[in-house]
Amino acid sequence: MRLLIVEDEPKTAALLGRALRTEGVEVDWSDNGEQGLEMASQGGFDVLLVDIMLPGLDGLSLVRALRAGGIATPVIMLSARGEVEQRVEGLDAGADDYLPKPFAMSELIARIRSQVRRSTLQKPIPLSLGDLTFEPATREVRRGGQRIELSPRESLLLECLFRAEGDAVTRRDIISAVWGYDFDTGTNLVEVYIRRLRDKVDRDFPEKLIQTVRGFGYALRLRP
Ligand code: CA
Repeated sequence: MRLLIVEDEPKTAALLGRALRTEGVEVDWSDNGEQGLEMASQGGFDVLLVDIMLPGLDGLSLVRALRAGGIATPVIMLSARGEVEQRVEGLDAGADDYLPKPFAMSELIARIRSQVRRSTLQKPIPLSLGDLTFEPATREVRRGGQRIELSPRESLLLECLFRAEGDAVTRRDIISAVWGYDFDTGTNLVEVYIRRLRDKVDRDFPEKLIQTVRGFGYALRLRP
């Protein structure tokens, strides 16, 4: 996951950056609105964290300009002032969520995850990687043109990996997407299903697409 912080206070930005990097998030930072807008407009970010009070172009104008330019990257607005009007203004400008400062890091991380989940659910269909294709509407899976039969859970797992577009997905996010629990069940459920999916999707093919990302989770991608 890649995230952009637009925040003029270096201390706050550094604190956020550190906390997010320990969560496995790749973090870019801009300390002003103009540059933040330019970076965000180039795309490639999964979430933008935008402070409202910025020198030059403020956070609200940044989000308005971004949306006017057709960029739909989820935005979480941050503000020192947690007043209702600002919240409404932020959401009106095209932000997806709003978090008043000071906030708990755990809450911010939960909201980032929820934004990423929401936006990946809205991505277009069908999905493909190399010779593997997945049609979400019919749940049809093919590799090399050959039909692969998956159970409903296996198919949800494959879809969840597909929608991450090559990024690693944590065990916790897999559990949430496939079983609907918002906590790690602490069992080997994920490993069992990954093994089943590998048997069906990868075993008979020279190129293995389901990769283990040690200490983090799993990714569906071509080997570099
Ligand atoms: Ca500020």
